[in-house]
Amino acid sequence: MTHSIQLPLLLLFLFFVPNSYAVTLLDFSQYNFGFNNRPFFGAIVKDLMDDFGEMVSVSYGKGFEARGNQIVIDEEKMDQLLKETVHSSERESIARFIIAHEFFHIALKHTKTSHRVRGFEDLTIVGTFSEARKQMEQQVDHLAAKYLHKLGLSTAPIQRLFRSHPEMHGGEFYPTAEERVEAVLKAQANGIEPTYFDNPAIKCTQVLGKLAPKLH
Ligand SMILES: [Zn+2]
Repeated sequence: MTHSIQLPLLLLFLFFVPNSYAVTLLDFSQYNFGFNNRPFFGAIVKDLMDDFGEMVSVSYGKGFEARGNQIVIDEEKMDQLLKETVHSSERESIARFIIAHEFFHIALKHTKTSHRVRGFEDLTIVGTFSEARKQMEQQVDHLAAKYLHKLGLSTAPIQRLFRSHPEMHGGEFYPTAEERVEAVLKAQANGIEPTYFDNPAIKCTQVLGKLAPKLH
């Protein structure tokens, strides 16, 4: 008798909870170019902290960056990137992707590693630091793209960004444009692409484990 009540409740729980997000989409038609848009960025960071249970702080400066537990947001650069869009939903995709990318660097403990520090808790750098860094970028691009999918936002503006901005790919630490686009495209499939988290350059599947239920 009790089973007949509990089972539907359990199914309801399993169906809704893994996909539940605290996020309310923002109205980016209200974004003010050249003015203070920190309420938008603050709301995005708060959504990420609420959904993934990782606390971060925010500062504003030059260049997007994750430093320790802090996300650095470049307001001028954000303005430039958002100006390249037509629709306000594209602006939301880009703003949420960039901030989620930095957020996942912190959540995955990437900011705890360096040339000298080749491991932290369950993350281990196996290859060169440069190789590992490129994998870290692939990981957070992939997760940030999955996050957009979960919110019902398009990743097309992100693919365009990677293809059209040379400063966003190559060099010692960044994958090629095609590799970055691939990490975004692979987010369309069910589940998280495991090879980004366990390969000859880096092993960090355990660290991913805490985030995975929300992003599958
Ligand atoms: Zn990065």
